[in-house]
Amino acid sequence: MPRILLLDYNKCRPEQCNNGVCVAVEACPLDILAQEEPYENPMMLAPTCKGCMDCIKACPNGALDLE
Ligand code: SF4
Ligand code: SF4
Repeated sequence: MPRILLLDYNKCRPEQCNNGVCVAVEACPLDILAQEEPYENPMMLAPTCKGCMDCIKACPNGALDLE
């Protein structure tokens, strides 16, 4: 069942990740998340995803959640 991914920009701190690279982007098997440049907030490329939670587990700041 498709799930809605939530990204909390108040918790997202790219500078605390892998040299500014969003580890959640790299974790998603569907490429739902994308980051234009290191140290920028990632964005969602689709409103829903398969809800595998890989990105949520990868993010060190708890910025991602599923509705
Ligand atoms: S979503 Fe999480 S892993 Fe990605 S840049 Fe923000 S804090 Fe880092
Ligand atoms: S829950 Fe899974 S499919 Fe959805 S954005 Fe995160 S890693 Fe990608």
